[in-house]
Order: sequence, then C-alpha cells, then structure tokens
Amino acid sequence: MKSDLLKNKIIKWSQELGFDGIGFTDIDLAKDETHLLNWLENKFHGEMHYMEKHGVKRSRPDELMPGTVRIISFRMNYRKTDTYAAEKVLNNKDLGYISRYALGKDYHSVLRERLHIIAKKINDEIGNFKYRAFVDSAPVLEKAIAQKAGLGWIGKNTNLINKNNGSYFFLGEIYTNIDFEVDKKAKNYCGECSECIEICPTNAIIAPYVLDAKKCIAYLTIELKGSIPMEFRDSIGNRIFGCDDCQIVCPWNKFSTETKVSEFSHKHKLDSPTLINLFNWSEKEFKENTKNTSINRISYFQWLRNIAVGIGNAEINSDNIKSLKNKKKEIKDSVLIEHINWAIKKQTTPNLNIS
Ligand code: SF4
Repeated sequence: MKSDLLKNKIIKWSQELGFDGIGFTDIDLAKDETHLLNWLENKFHGEMHYMEKHGVKRSRPDELMPGTVRIISFRMNYRKTDTYAAEKVLNNKDLGYISRYALGKDYHSVLRERLHIIAKKINDEIGNFKYRAFVDSAPVLEKAIAQKAGLGWIGKNTNLINKNNGSYFFLGEIYTNIDFEVDKKAKNYCGECSECIEICPTNAIIAPYVLDAKKCIAYLTIELKGSIPMEFRDSIGNRIFGCDDCQIVCPWNKFSTETKVSEFSHKHKLDSPTLINLFNWSEKEFKENTKNTSINRISYFQWLRNIAVGIGNAEINSDNIKSLKNKKKEIKDSVLIEHINWAIKKQTTPNLNIS
C-alpha cells in the first residue's frame, strides 16, 4: 500500500478513536536538542534526574528505537464542560485546586491503549512493521515533535498551543520505520502577549519559552518528594496538585473544545473539593478515591503535605486548626509535621507571612 493512502487511513482511525489531531514528522530535532541541553545545564529540571539520565536520547529518536524515520504525533483533548469553573475554585480558599488534566482516568493508559489499536490496524494493512508507542513514558521530546508535526506551537508558557483548540490536551507518539510524507511545522502565534509570564504565581516562567521547573507549582506539588521550600508556600495558595494558571489566562484557550473521550469525566467531585474533606481522608481512602487517576502518582505523604500548605493559606477557621492538630497526632513524619506546624502558625496568626 502507498504510504499516502495508509496515512489517510491512520488519520481516519485516530478520529474514530477520539483523537483531536494527528501529524507526521521526521526525526531531526537538532534545534530542540540545543534548547534541552541549555535547560539541563541551567539545572532547571530540579530533582527530575531522569531528564539528565537519558541525555540526548530524548532528542534523537533513532537512539530510542533504532530504525525510526518518522514519528506520528497525536493530540487528545481532555477538557470537560461540566467541570466546576477553575477560577471559582482558585478564588475560594477553602477549596483545593487540582489541575484539570488529572480529574479523569489516567491519560497514560487511555492514550496508550488507543495508540496500540492504531498500530495493530497498520500491521493488519501492511504486515510486520517496526514501531513503539509512547505517552509521557519514555525520553521523548513530545512538544517539539508535535510542533514539527503541525499540531501546535510551543508557547511562552512552554505548553503546546493549538490555534483552534487551545492547550487542554494530551500528546502521544508512535515511532515508526515507515517513510510517511511529513507535515508542516506549526507557526507561533504568541505575538506580543505575555499574560502567562505575568500570571505565574511563583514566577516560574523566567523568560519567554523558559520554565524553571524548580519554581513551577506542578513540580513542587507532584515531582518534589521532600519539603516544599518556604519561599513558595504562600504563592501556592490552594493548588494541591499541579497548576493551570498559565493555561487559564492564555487567550487561545477561548477556542478549546470538549473531549470526545468519556474516560476523562471526573470522579469524586475532585473538581471542587474542600481542603478539610481531603485532608481527613485516610491513606486507604486516598488510594481508593484517586485510583486510576494521575493523582495516584503522588504518595499519601505528598498529598497531605500539599493540602497542609493549602489549609495554611485558607481563611482562618477553628475547624482548620482542629483538623491540622488532629492529623498531627496521627503522623510521625517530621517533614509533614513541619508543614502542618507551618499551617497552624498561619491559621493562628492573622496577616502572617512566614514564607
Ligand atoms: S498566554 Fe500569551 S504568551 Fe503565554 S502562551 Fe498563551 S499566547 Fe503565548
């Protein structure tokens, strides 16, 4: 079968499986490799040592899968229109904000399953071919690949942005040895805008297109395993798992559209939970209530640590102090106790800024 006919079939299959965009690109990521190496040299990756460990494998696809000549990049929206408004949660200090991508089923499994279905269909058409499918699971420069494949541009907030769909979507890739015709790289439409840089609560976007991950709330609440540095605790506010501020403010998200995938419906009212309710969950309840979501990637310790910071920043209320003191009696971890003490101090000392 000619590769352009196969390409059209793959596009059709991807639409049937709920993907909202697809593009084909070659494997030359030399320019992006320079950006990656500068970023690593500046230590912007913090404790994400796996970024360093894999080095240039990330920007040289044929080192990850020998024989790769093309990459098929896929985009799948996750936004649900029945989700409680993000701004309302952020403005209510007694609620906990969970990044909108994490409210439904874990995207890794949702996308990976569909990529393997497409690979099987290709195999049925042309016989044995070489491929590997990835969803944020291996050293892959997914945003640079998607940009080259025409799915959007890397914005000043370092997210991939699509002109017709904003940035609330996941990416997945199939590396292959089939020599497909490539698509055109997407143009950048950030222009003079700098809203994401101005809104970032912790000033993590240190220059257009440069994110110091060590300052990013997504890193501080998910990747960081130990103590959250004092300097960021006030700015974290009520964000207990990730942060969407740089996406919420992005004008291109006016065009974001709802996902077609039912698995991204949210569970347990995690779109607008009260901090106290979440803080009172036992470890068993935490595991059960976040099962099969991306939230389950953090430990119960990180969960309580993040919520303690959120409660410290909440409206002063005797129930908050009571919950903090009760939890303190149950736990032994000194780092967690320190976060709870910080929160108690904030709750018992009006107008205190101790960060
Ligand atoms: S907020 Fe503005 S500068 Fe930032 S990514 Fe969106 S368009 Fe680009």
